Amino acid sequence: MTTQCQVLITGGRVVDPRHEVDEVLTVGITDGRIVHVGKYAIPAERTIDADGLIVAPGFVDLHSHAQNPIGHLLQAHDGVTTSLELECGATPFLHALDAAEYEGRVLNYGYSASWLLARMIVMEGMNPSEINALPTLPLDAFGELQTSRDWPNPSSPEQQQAIIDLIAEQLDDGAIGIGVLLGYAPKVSAAELKALAELAVSRNTTLFVHARFGSGIPGHPAHESVEELIELSKLTGVRIHICHFASSNADGSDESGQLLLEAINRGVSITTESYPFEFASTVIGADFLAPEILEGNGTPASTITYLPRSEVVVSYERLAELRHQDPGGLCLIQYYGDDQQVGVDQLLKALSFPGAAFASDAMPLTTVGSTGSETTLPTTLPVPEGFAAHPRSSSCFIRALTWLHRDTGLMNLSEVISRSSDIPARILSNCAPVFNDKGHLGVGSDADIVIFDLDSAMPRTNPAPVEPAIGVVHLFVNGELLVENGTLQAISPGKALLNGATTTQRGVHG
Ligand SMILES: [Zn+2]
Repeated sequence: MTTQCQVLITGGRVVDPRHEVDEVLTVGITDGRIVHVGKYAIPAERTIDADGLIVAPGFVDLHSHAQNPIGHLLQAHDGVTTSLELECGATPFLHALDAAEYEGRVLNYGYSASWLLARMIVMEGMNPSEINALPTLPLDAFGELQTSRDWPNPSSPEQQQAIIDLIAEQLDDGAIGIGVLLGYAPKVSAAELKALAELAVSRNTTLFVHARFGSGIPGHPAHESVEELIELSKLTGVRIHICHFASSNADGSDESGQLLLEAINRGVSITTESYPFEFASTVIGADFLAPEILEGNGTPASTITYLPRSEVVVSYERLAELRHQDPGGLCLIQYYGDDQQVGVDQLLKALSFPGAAFASDAMPLTTVGSTGSETTLPTTLPVPEGFAAHPRSSSCFIRALTWLHRDTGLMNLSEVISRSSDIPARILSNCAPVFNDKGHLGVGSDADIVIFDLDSAMPRTNPAPVEPAIGVVHLFVNGELLVENGTLQAISPGKALLNGATTTQRGVHG
């Protein structure tokens, strides 16, 4: 008998929203690509029995800061096959890319060019050896630079040009889009933002933006930031993707959503993403967590939990102290008020917004309970005691599947899967053609496939202990079986994904 494919998945309910498929089919894989989708089995070297399971395109996560080996292992159990750091991004891009290639990654990965890190490098006047000494994990570099104070200031024309030039270099090297953590440097001028948008337009790429004023900034309702981005896109034609729309618009989802919908209907190129949790996580030194801002807005300090000590912040004085001692320390933030139902309703509106993707905003692990910060991160599962992370880091997509579909029926299965795979891949296909072959199960596409058991699926909802979500039975990354019967295999099939503009052919790690 002649072999027609290397691996055949049989008996599973195949849900491929792009092709409007939802039925029991067989899926064949050869050399990392899908070569067969049909009702009947074809001869194969190996068969995977998916009877009773869902077979779907692997999830494409637009927004994960957990770009290290353990972060990817946790995301593999959440059904992710491509994990991208697009909001913060990396500058120097090659610094992050080389580290990932050297260490190996289980998932496909990519980075945008980081506007904020470029800004830090320029505004702080860093020399090459200081730049080289920055941590290779972008969020760690961002956390480390929280103690420097010149970077959030308005730039001079010369500085602005240097920032733009530095970002252009990262795009030359293959960065996917430009990450714009605007909310962390809200004093930046409209002129700098416009120059950034013009660069993006000239490179046919997208801005991935954490909006200037999120919820709860006195004098700046959240919809003001949405209007700013709509105007920027109208003025320059730039494509904009708004990160974590739910958490950035907790005080005004209705108004922001309405404005955005009207703009999108008029042809303005803006997309959104949200994660299915009603609490956020960031560095405690963030501009928008200043005690005077919280106090001015009537938000109690106790909405913040300082993760390294699992400490609920009892007062604005204590918040000021922690921000001074450890500005890069991670915290959790309840971003809706006391009325739980209002919060959940607003979150659901953002999650079901037309064209919205689900994206995790996964965070790297942080140590808890220990006095020093010298504890090295684990590189394999299980994660030992003494670490914490926002549960979106392990359970964004499994929580969406169980909460929004299985337990409440608020969305059908195809919609949840579409927002986790097809929609994010479409958002990216404009900036990087490699995404044309991701997010769906068409013949010829990349064999990034998640096979899960909806009945037994269970997300994690607490920051500690850090445990993987339950439910992913098998996971293929580039045709290789990374998770088999719920167990991770010791392989690193992840590939670096570039914007396609680079002429340098980079090898994949060995
Ligand atoms: Zn953000």
